[in-house]
Amino acid sequence: MPRGRPPGPEGPAGGEGTDAPGLRLGPERAESAPDGEWMIRLVPGAASTKTYRCPGCDQEIPPGTAHLVAWPAGSRGPADRRHWHNPCWQRRLQRHVPGRPARRAGR
Ligand SMILES: [Zn+2]
Repeated sequence: MPRGRPPGPEGPAGGEGTDAPGLRLGPERAESAPDGEWMIRLVPGAASTKTYRCPGCDQEIPPGTAHLVAWPAGSRGPADRRHWHNPCWQRRLQRHVPGRPARRAGR
């Protein structure tokens, strides 16, 4: 694993949450899940100004939709962030209930 930072104009180190200046997002909170430690931040509809794709359902999250951003705890930088529908984030956990066969939607 190379530890070098990718070249880019964005300031590294410490600064976080600078991708949406002026927007008021919810506070970060840590969440422990069967698949790891995550940081979650709620995004109110008013602060959602772009279309994102939810990795849970593979549908778009239109602007103005309240949702959440999750990224692995310990991740540096916004590259690992994923925008989820709130219910999709919760449903993600259900998939990891032990003893339950994983249901995969066929592609
Ligand atoms: Zn979704």
